[in-house]
Amino acid sequence: MMLVMKFGGTSVGSAQAMRETADLILQAKQTWGRVVVIASAMGSQPVKVTDLLLRGAHAAASGDKETYKLVAAELRQIHFAAIDELLLPEGERQRILADNEAFLGRFTDLCQAVLVLGELTPRALDAISGMGEQMSIRILAAYLRQIGHPAEAIDATELIVTDNNFQAAMPLLPRTRSKTKVRIRPLLDQNIIPIVTGFIGATEYGVTTTLGRGGSDYSAAILGQALDAQEVWIWTDVDGVMTTDPRLEPTARSIPTLTYREVSELAYYGAKVLHPKTIRPCIENGIPLRIKNTFNPAHPGTVIVADDKNGNGGMKAVSAIRSLSLITIEGKGMMGVPGIAARTFGAVAHEDVSVLLISQASSEQSISFATPGVYAEKVLLALETEFATELQRQDIDRIWAEHDAAIVTAVGAGMRGTPGIAGRIFTALGNTAVNIIAIAQGSSECSISMVVSGGDMETAVKQIHALI
Ligand code: ADP
Ligand code: MG
Repeated sequence: MMLVMKFGGTSVGSAQAMRETADLILQAKQTWGRVVVIASAMGSQPVKVTDLLLRGAHAAASGDKETYKLVAAELRQIHFAAIDELLLPEGERQRILADNEAFLGRFTDLCQAVLVLGELTPRALDAISGMGEQMSIRILAAYLRQIGHPAEAIDATELIVTDNNFQAAMPLLPRTRSKTKVRIRPLLDQNIIPIVTGFIGATEYGVTTTLGRGGSDYSAAILGQALDAQEVWIWTDVDGVMTTDPRLEPTARSIPTLTYREVSELAYYGAKVLHPKTIRPCIENGIPLRIKNTFNPAHPGTVIVADDKNGNGGMKAVSAIRSLSLITIEGKGMMGVPGIAARTFGAVAHEDVSVLLISQASSEQSISFATPGVYAEKVLLALETEFATELQRQDIDRIWAEHDAAIVTAVGAGMRGTPGIAGRIFTALGNTAVNIIAIAQGSSECSISMVVSGGDMETAVKQIHALI
């Protein structure tokens, strides 16, 4: 029996958290026999190691000679404090301090190169931003050895082979599968626990890539698939997937079961607790996925299942994404322009920008879609170029963006069979004067998304949450 477990930033965020994580690993080892661990970079609030690495790199790119050095010092302080507290001086402490120092040296060298070049390429960003995981796994593995269990720190650059789409690399499965099996199986056969970096992979030439922010969850699913694991568990700092983000609404409750489809919608529409890409490798291989709380391990958390027979509970959760722009193309002559939707989304795709939601109003003859706000300007420019002729002829009157928008999404497979849910949501929002700018229903019919202004997001989430 094999279990793949991923521990998030807070689960390895301090010496104390690492001790609890180590306990959970050893308990699981007793039950399952074979356990593979994926860990994130240290991430105690409010300082997250990956954010620090990125801050140093960006500062260097902008010509700032000091910040990356201060960042290196802060990183040293965070990691060395954990090492000093966890590892005995007569044991591996010196060796792990030196290992971590080597990464800090490399961080400084890379930032210096970035400073000299005045340019931060996606490739350099990946080399820099993945270092937090490389440091944390070495500490955790050494601690496990110290408490008497063989463990080996492994960089996922040795396991996960990806394309060279830096920042959001895609794994190449057959290669990943064979490399992972060859490297990991002998360790498991010898009773050694592999402690693997989340977030990173490497191209076939060995150049470090990253799977996207929050991608350690995805790393766990990829390894689960590659190793034919029985289950994948995601350990985090909340009691599983909740009815909404508890940071936004303190009355949020844990949800015992969700279907793959429901959790996909939630993750895609902003529930940070699970990276949306995690789900597919699990569905395709029928691997059950569990989300649990490192700091409350007795709580069952959430199980993600293929189909929930008792799942007709209507709405189950509400999530939100902020900092979006809603871009609208409108014009009375638009109906006569052939292929307008295809050309619109072709132009957006050409800019490499993802579209989160599309809404069409036939009466007003307009198409609206939401994209991350940072891309709004370049998307507007691309559309103005694409439709220059139509704008001149006034078939299209206007292409414009509503900035600081948010998407609020209500999710639940049972919503399909529960009449009147949309009406209750709209009434609740209307009662608190939240203006709904656009609406879209998920293709799986298990979600309804509404675009609201950023300032209304929190009220909208709270109002909808009160209906669950
Ligand atoms: P990790 O470092 O363990 O991956 P993340 O910060 O990525 O942790 O994800 C956990 C956080 O996700 C929680 O602390 C919570 O604030 C947030 N979150 C957002 N939406 C939800 C939700 N629906 N259920 C639970 N947590 C949520
Ligand atoms: Mg996460």
